[in-house]
Amino acid sequence: MPVFESAGCSWGKRLSAARAEYERSQRWRVRQVNQGNSLDFASNDYLGLALDPRVCEAQAKGARRFGAGAGASHLVNGHLSVHEALEVALAEWLGRERALLFSTGYMANLGVLQALADPHTAIFQDRLNHASLIDGATLSGAPSRRFHHCDMADLQRLLARNEREHRLVVSDGVFSMDGDVADIAGLSAISRKHRAWLMIDDAHGVGVLGERAAGCTEGFTSAEVPILIGTLGKALGTAGAFVAGDTALVEHVLQFSRSYTYTTAQPPGVASATLTSLEILQAEPERRHRLRENIGQFRCGAQSLGLPLAQSETPIQPLLLGDEARTLRWADELKCQNIAVGAIRPPSVPRGQSRLRVTLRACHRRKDIDRLLETLGQCLRKEAL
Ligand SMILES: *Cc1c(COP(=O)(O)O)cnc(C)c1O
Repeated sequence: MPVFESAGCSWGKRLSAARAEYERSQRWRVRQVNQGNSLDFASNDYLGLALDPRVCEAQAKGARRFGAGAGASHLVNGHLSVHEALEVALAEWLGRERALLFSTGYMANLGVLQALADPHTAIFQDRLNHASLIDGATLSGAPSRRFHHCDMADLQRLLARNEREHRLVVSDGVFSMDGDVADIAGLSAISRKHRAWLMIDDAHGVGVLGERAAGCTEGFTSAEVPILIGTLGKALGTAGAFVAGDTALVEHVLQFSRSYTYTTAQPPGVASATLTSLEILQAEPERRHRLRENIGQFRCGAQSLGLPLAQSETPIQPLLLGDEARTLRWADELKCQNIAVGAIRPPSVPRGQSRLRVTLRACHRRKDIDRLLETLGQCLRKEAL
C-alpha cells in the first residue's frame, strides 16, 4: 500500500484527485525511454550537432582535462578557463560586450528576471512566452502583464497606460510551440519609445536564423535589444544557456542572480563541447542550408496533403489538431510506425490548441520526410473513414 494511504492522510486524496483531473483531460504524461531507434522529428538538435563525433570528442577531452564536474559555483572556484573561453566566443559571435553562462535556459530566465525586476518594476510579456519567462517574472515579484501574441498595438497600449519607472518587455525570439518569429524591430522600437528595456529569449533562433546564425536578433545592437538570452541545448546540441549584453548588465546579473550564484558551474566538458559546436556551425553553413531545404520539403508536402500547418518558417512546424485526444491518437499512430513527434497538450499550450510539434533537422534525408508525410496522410485518411 502506498505510504500516504496507509497513513490515512489527506495527501493521498490530494494526489489522486490531481491525477484523476489530468487523466480526465488527457494531460497525464507518460515518459518513453528513447531507445534512439526511431525516426526523430521531436528533438531540438536542429543541426545534428549533439551526435557529431567532434563535439562528443571535445566533451570527453574537456572532462579529461578539467574533470567531469566543475566542483564549485562560478563565484567560488568553479569558473574554469574553458567557461571563460566559451563566454568570450559567445559574446563575439553575438556582437555583445559580454556573455554569462548559466547551467540551463530555465535557470537563465529565472535568474535574469529575478536580478533585474522587483515589485516596483513592470514586466510586459507576450501571451505565448516560454514557461521559464513566466516563472521568472513570478519569482521577481514584479507585476506581469501579457500582451496578445505578437500584437504590437496591444503592447503599445499597455506600455502607454503604465507609469512605472522601470519597465521590461520580454518575448521569445522564436516561439517554442508555434515556430513563428517575434517582430524584433517592432518590439525594439516600441520599447525604446516608452523607455523600456527589451529582453529576447532566442532559445530556438540561435544557431539557426540569420546570416551568421546568430539568431533572430542578428544585426540588432545592444541598444536595440539590451538583453539577449540563448540556450545551448537546442541548435548547439549541448546544454546550458547564456545572457549576453553590455558589461553593466552582465555584471549586474552575475552579482544579483540567485540561480547563477547558488549552483555548481556547468560541467567543463559541456563548455568544451559547446566551443566545438560553435566552431562547426560557423564553418559549415551547409547544415543550415540542408535544414532550410528540409523545412521547405515538409511544408510543401504537408500543404498538398491538406494538413493543418501553422505560419512558421523555422524548424518548428506544429500541426494544429486542436483536440487533446486527437493529438494523442495521431502521435500513437506515428509511434507505431516508429516515428517520434512531440504531442503538445495543455498546460504547454492553451486548452483546445493541442498539436503535434514536428521539428525538422539538418540530418533528415528526403526519404525520412517522405515517410513522415506518408504516415501523417494515413492519419488524416483514417479520420475520414
Ligand atoms: C527550451 C527553452 C528554454 C529552456 O532552456 P533549457 O536550457 O532547456 O532549460 C527557455 N526558453 C525557451 C524559449 C525555450 O524554448
